Amino acid sequence: MEDYKKTLDIIVERIAKDYRPEYSVVDVAQACYDSVNRIHPEEVEAILLKSKDGESGYCNQCGKCCRDYYIILRIEDIYKLSKVVDITGNIEKSPDHPDLFRFKTKPCKYIAKDGRCQCYNQRPLTCRNHPITDGGGHRRVVRDTECEYILGFFYDKAVSLLTKTAFK
Ligand code: SF4
Ligand code: SF4
Repeated sequence: MEDYKKTLDIIVERIAKDYRPEYSVVDVAQACYDSVNRIHPEEVEAILLKSKDGESGYCNQCGKCCRDYYIILRIEDIYKLSKVVDITGNIEKSPDHPDLFRFKTKPCKYIAKDGRCQCYNQRPLTCRNHPITDGGGHRRVVRDTECEYILGFFYDKAVSLLTKTAFK
């Protein structure tokens, strides 16, 4: 168990080293793939098996990522969101970055009654890159230790890149 956590921390550390706030989803997928690839294949297999045991790895739909952060937005996120949801009065400047914005509300206003995202296909990059980017305004790589999706995130992104499926 401890080895598994240590390996995850090594992967996050490697991504953090090269991460840039302007990374696209494809860039993040590439960083995940590269990082996972630099780990010994047996270690990767071991952490994937751990996730299948239910210890960690997949989103448990707790909703924390949509409830507990002010979601940071780029101008292109705002443009895309404006096509699918009403953003009137819900955007403000990020207090930490003069060139970025954020939702005014926390929890996020776009959580539907059933807990799903009302703008899923157009959701901001911060949401797409959770749990490796923080929602606190710095858009740096962090490991949200309470989020169980951490391993699934690496796995999904790496597989998406390998199979060239649409990035979600
Ligand atoms: S991504 Fe993480 S924080 Fe968000 S709902 Fe899934 S498990 Fe919870
Ligand atoms: S935009 Fe969607 S995914 Fe992002 S915080 Fe809001 S409900 Fe969650």
